[in-house]
Amino acid sequence: MARAEPEAGAGSAASPASPASPASARTGTVDGLQVVVTGASRGIGLAIARRLVEEGARVAMLARTASDLQQEATLMGERAWDVPCDLADGGAVERALERILERMGPPDILVNNAGAFLLGALGSTSGPDVQRVFDVNLAAPYRLTNAVVPAMRERGRGHIVTIGSIADRHPFPENGAYAASKFGVRAMHEVLREELRGTGVRASLVSPGPVDTPLWDPIAPDDRPGFTPRASMLRAEAVADAVLWVVTRPEAVNIDELRLTRS
Ligand code: NAP
Repeated sequence: MARAEPEAGAGSAASPASPASPASARTGTVDGLQVVVTGASRGIGLAIARRLVEEGARVAMLARTASDLQQEATLMGERAWDVPCDLADGGAVERALERILERMGPPDILVNNAGAFLLGALGSTSGPDVQRVFDVNLAAPYRLTNAVVPAMRERGRGHIVTIGSIADRHPFPENGAYAASKFGVRAMHEVLREELRGTGVRASLVSPGPVDTPLWDPIAPDDRPGFTPRASMLRAEAVADAVLWVVTRPEAVNIDELRLTRS
């Protein structure tokens, strides 16, 4: 059963996996792999966690809201593990990673998904809101990637999947902070890809257009001219399918970048 585990709480005996599962050498499947998904309490991250658990992976689900995480992880069963963590807090991320290492061993796959959106023209946005976008969308993926890559290099396998956005290449008005964070995280991914070439460790950027998730609740795009109506957006499950496809390619294949829009 999935567990609610406050950050400082004692570990349960029901560990989700033994370290360094030999299953991680397989290709074409995530069955038995240890995966970390950030922002897994709702939206795209939840869809990714569900899909990977369905396919046999063991998934550590990170987000701030412990009650949501616990509820979702419990529904998913014993291969899902809720790890409440504020990714904007470097110390909290370190402690979460320590717990994950202790319980799962080094992850086979890290999915950098958690994100914060901000709509506002340059000159009208406030410091803390902008900082939050940079912290969650850029600093957190950097910090997590930095922490897990050495063990992946050592083992000669592993996969870092980063969720970008259509806004990681295309400039939209009122997207200054968001686009800066997403262009930035794409840059991190591209450098990482070059650094990992030939090591056996893979890096993929999955960049969707608008997806109907709770991210849009405060924006109400259906009432705003120029915005994609929610009914015309991608589904979170489509992004999850794309992530599953990316991580199940043969080991010799790296999907560098995958961009999704509605047909
Ligand atoms: P969402 O529905 O708002 O979910 C965001 C997730 O991130 C939640 O689980 C949230 O949980 C978590 N999160 C936010 N701040 C956090 C923090 N400080 N620490 C830990 N977790 C945090 O968003 P989404 O639409 O699924 O977006 C997921 C990713 O896809 C983001 O990177 C986003 O930029 C990208 N994306 C979204 C769209 C779209 O149209 N929806 C399009 C392209 C790309 P808590 O609030 O509990 O922490």
